[in-house]
Amino acid sequence: MKKKIWIGTNWKMTKTIAEGLDFTHELKKIAEAISPNIQLFIIPSHTSLFPIKEVISGSTIYLGAQNMHWEDSGAYTGEISPRMLDEIGIDMIELGHSERRQYYNETDEAINKKILAALEYSIKPLICIGENIEQKNNLISKETLSAQLKVCLKGLSKEQAKQVVIAYEPVWAIGEQGIPAEVEYVEEIHDFLRQTLIGLFDDTGMEIPVLYGGSVNHDNFLNYINLENVNGLFVGRAAWEIDSFQKILYQLESHLFD
Ligand code: PEP
Repeated sequence: MKKKIWIGTNWKMTKTIAEGLDFTHELKKIAEAISPNIQLFIIPSHTSLFPIKEVISGSTIYLGAQNMHWEDSGAYTGEISPRMLDEIGIDMIELGHSERRQYYNETDEAINKKILAALEYSIKPLICIGENIEQKNNLISKETLSAQLKVCLKGLSKEQAKQVVIAYEPVWAIGEQGIPAEVEYVEEIHDFLRQTLIGLFDDTGMEIPVLYGGSVNHDNFLNYINLENVNGLFVGRAAWEIDSFQKILYQLESHLFD
């Protein structure tokens, strides 16, 4: 049985502070009712981080931000630094979501700098990787993912590698137009990612949680979580309404621990 299951959601640019607070109050009650082996996390917009931190303080829910710069301070209009996020007391930072790569040209090199900066503040990097449909069709998914991992994780010690969480999110499976991935495909890729992490960090590679994300919903999430090298789920739309997220969490709890 898996020691710990990670499950959380990135709200993207959807919830206001008031909407985020309503959700968080409910999630806090759910967190108290389910096993502490289910590690919950939420990733609101920057504007909501501070008020939500006040609500979840003392709970087991991790709070993450959706992006940050790698510098502590400087002339970078519109950016937020690790020092500022640390002041709020966030636990995680999501880096490299495919929308940031696609719309804001975020590169693996930039993500690597952000990861190293986050680790300086003991903020856990949640690193998103994934191939796009052209890469999949050209049969270079594994090469793409291996390159993303190698560049993003460049220069990390084994101790630092223990702090990261990887989210594998095939770009073609994400969002409204996303096509849910075949379970066999997810299994093959997660096994490959595990071997790649072991290649980079020896046995420490076994300890790095690798989550799956992309059109995860009530009907398919158990198929993914049952896979040996899937340590959790990164859920978008199916977790944005608290009732829908609660349904997944209670089902997960009874599947794992009853
Ligand atoms: C995402 O955008 O990272 C995601 C997992 O979204 P969805 O579950 O809605 O496909």
